[in-house]
Amino acid sequence: MKIGEIVESQAAAREEFLAALVRQPSDNPPGDCNPHAALTASLIEELGFTVERHVVPETLVKAHGMISATNLIIRHCFGEGPTIALNAHGDVVPPGEGWRTDPYRSEIIDGWMYGRGAAVSKSDICSYIFALKALRDSGASLAGTVEVHVTYDEETGGEIGPGWLLAEGLSKPDYAIAAGFSYSVVTAHNGCLHLEVAVRGKSAHAAKPETGHDALAAATAILTQLYAERDALRTRVSSIPGIGAPGLTVGLIQGGINTNVVPDKIRFRLDRRITPDENPAEVEAGLRALIAAAGDLPGIRVEIAQILLAKPLTPLPGAERLAETLCRQASAVFATEIGTSGAPLYTDARHYAAAGVPIVLYGAGPQSIEEANAHRADERIFLPDLHRATLALALSLAELLAPRADLIPQDETLLRKSFEVAKAARAAGCHPFGALLAGPDGEVLMEQQNGFLPEHDMTGHAERILSGRASVKYGASFLRRCTLYSSAEPCAMCAGAIYWSGIGRVVYGMSEHNLKQITGDHAENPTLDLPCRTIFAAGQRDVQVVGPCLVEESRALHEGAWARN
Ligand SMILES: [Zn+2]
Repeated sequence: MKIGEIVESQAAAREEFLAALVRQPSDNPPGDCNPHAALTASLIEELGFTVERHVVPETLVKAHGMISATNLIIRHCFGEGPTIALNAHGDVVPPGEGWRTDPYRSEIIDGWMYGRGAAVSKSDICSYIFALKALRDSGASLAGTVEVHVTYDEETGGEIGPGWLLAEGLSKPDYAIAAGFSYSVVTAHNGCLHLEVAVRGKSAHAAKPETGHDALAAATAILTQLYAERDALRTRVSSIPGIGAPGLTVGLIQGGINTNVVPDKIRFRLDRRITPDENPAEVEAGLRALIAAAGDLPGIRVEIAQILLAKPLTPLPGAERLAETLCRQASAVFATEIGTSGAPLYTDARHYAAAGVPIVLYGAGPQSIEEANAHRADERIFLPDLHRATLALALSLAELLAPRADLIPQDETLLRKSFEVAKAARAAGCHPFGALLAGPDGEVLMEQQNGFLPEHDMTGHAERILSGRASVKYGASFLRRCTLYSSAEPCAMCAGAIYWSGIGRVVYGMSEHNLKQITGDHAENPTLDLPCRTIFAAGQRDVQVVGPCLVEESRALHEGAWARN
């Protein structure tokens, strides 16, 4: 069956799955989320997936103000290739007052499912799992792995969810997609700084106020400056659509002793939203200076403590491919133009970006936070959007993991030519590796055999030598449109040389991993088994990679070449 037909046929199963997730409370606070993780894991296992349960150590859970948390990882390997992680969270904010339905009954009214978490983000767990299921059930031959990460601490900062999974090395994705909206692909979002300010003076009887130092009067002076700063911020609108201007809110204040006492201490907390255009360290330093200057009054002491700093999300290289694919597929599925935007809120996505993983936000959700009633009474999801987002995700993943996604007709011919170069190298007594450089129209510009001989140069790999020659002869802007064909995957050294030369595209035969199985730790070729995509992903410009291709022919070049005596 085709992916579209599978997604369509499973609409009822998806609605039941989401309803079950909503019916099991997972309010955070208090953050006792293990029962929900257990239910989610068993529901996913019923769909035929293996679920890893990663229990977060109790001390860590407590340190983050929660009671229990278990992160789930579902991995499905379709074949060799990049790993794309999909992250959604199962914890929800408490329901609060004013619901028209029971927040845990998953009631459906006019096509909308109501319930806490129905939109944020249990619907994303549902669409991610069912997108993966559709890919698996379609039998599509794909090159790569899809992981779904279900975490339980988004509402408290994501440190023991995605932050912990990545820090512990439990997942090392090449790309990630995190919970988001259906009608926009979010590529950037705000960060957030929380500061606590303690203003200390000296108490005194209200009959003799001049004998004390009024902390409230001092706090008022500080607040006046902060509100002036807030007005000034309104004009600093971000260049990214959807982000708006930075925000500043003083959300909490407490202090005072009694009506007839000069207050000795005022404590307040502020929330500063940091746009992707701003530098968080500069923002914090600026606020600290402003508060210190305004509070510099006789007998007054001001202490400032950072409570939280969530850095803004800015797009990493590689995210544009995710965004472009999702926008195109979602536009077709929703029959409306879906583009990229920024979001004023901050999310767990920043943890992936901080780990160097290109990430965008996309998932099941209404047009806007307001329409979803997210974090309010009557949270809801429009079920047709859940189904459409699942299809858009499945089609995007299929495209992103398509083997030889961008293999153009002449690639096979040119790759086979690099095999001929490898054969010639072997015939000349060298190692059986060859590479060639083709121009934008497929014309062969240079060929290079392995260069181990005559001087036993252990760094004489064909791709490294070729990249150096190409860099000397051509400019980087031309090389960006060229393709290097290599009889086997470039090693870390060669991938580095390709990157520095500016060559824009690589097509290779068998993988380094495969080659290592053939050479073992052969003295002349102790294969360095690291995917070239990993090297390129660390760079600051994109290198398109196509491979492995024509693996059997590539392997055949090495038959009997690495025998030992
Ligand atoms: Zn190499």
